[in-house]
Amino acid sequence: MRLADLFKSKKAVLSFEVFPPKVQSGMEGINATLASLGDLAPDYVSVTYSAGGSRNAHTAEVARKVRALGMEPLAHITCVNSTAGEVKNALSELADAGVENVLALRGDRVEGATAGDFSYASDLIRFIREQGFSFDISAACYPEGHPECDSLRDDITNLKRKVDLGVTHLNTQLFFDNDDFFRFMDMVRLAGINVPVQAGVMPLVKASQFGGIVKMTAAKIPSKISRMYARFADDPESLTEAGIAYATDQIIDLLSGGVDGIHLYIMNNAYVARRITENIRPFLAKLNSEDGK
Ligand code: FAD
Repeated sequence: MRLADLFKSKKAVLSFEVFPPKVQSGMEGINATLASLGDLAPDYVSVTYSAGGSRNAHTAEVARKVRALGMEPLAHITCVNSTAGEVKNALSELADAGVENVLALRGDRVEGATAGDFSYASDLIRFIREQGFSFDISAACYPEGHPECDSLRDDITNLKRKVDLGVTHLNTQLFFDNDDFFRFMDMVRLAGINVPVQAGVMPLVKASQFGGIVKMTAAKIPSKISRMYARFADDPESLTEAGIAYATDQIIDLLSGGVDGIHLYIMNNAYVARRITENIRPFLAKLNSEDGK
């Protein structure tokens, strides 16, 4: 199903993000994760692409597995430091795997890498259309502003370029303070961006996440999370429970505020996906049954 149609048929969407293994031998692990995610019946599963600059060839393969398990894949694709030919091949591979939806990204700049044919995600979106691919196209957005942009206002002006090129849905970067999201949404709607925006939520369940992915995204850390980390960083079980509780609370507030959907950054952790899905399922069910939207 194309995501544009999915958002028309549901008031609150739930999806998970997975990343492919770096090496072929890791495929067994991802297969088990995907099978567990299938039991949770998400609306779709997104599959990352060469995140962090590592050339990762398994996105199409994992997307194919997602489909085989009866779930809808959203395949990420980046363009920075790539030639037009390389990107075209990657897109063809996704089309051959039966992928209907792509998340078109610039990608993180890799220091020392040779410049490619693309500067921004908007160049990629234009390219996908020019090359005649019929994918439904999603893009990324940043409630706290993209780290390279001088102001949130400028970032939203650049975001509108992507939407005006035909993007049908946006997924946000992870954030921990919902006020940032709601303020961003006010600005986005004022800017005339009217596509569905799904909130990206990352449950912080492992101490390593604080120094790794969270640092990389430069997300603001609320004092509530700092206290949680200070107290439980050396107690993995408690940190996991606290992280699940924080994310659940955050999601219930987002749903209360009318968010179009939740995109869970699960870091391939099916246990965390299950626990949070169980917590929020009643709210999603209620919202999606209300007006038959
Ligand atoms: P763009 O939309 O191109 O924006 C990048 C910067 O350029 C912003 O500061 C923007 O304001 C500015 N800009 C845009 N257009 C213009 C213009 N015309 N003139 C001047 N400035 C402009 N990375 C991966 O490598 N693999 C993944 O799978 C992946 N998945 C992601 C999923 C999500 C939901 C998100 C939020 C991020 C993901 N990333 C991934 C990270 C992403 O690649 C980086 O955040 C990257 O730095 C920006 O990508 P973008 O598509 O948002 O870029």
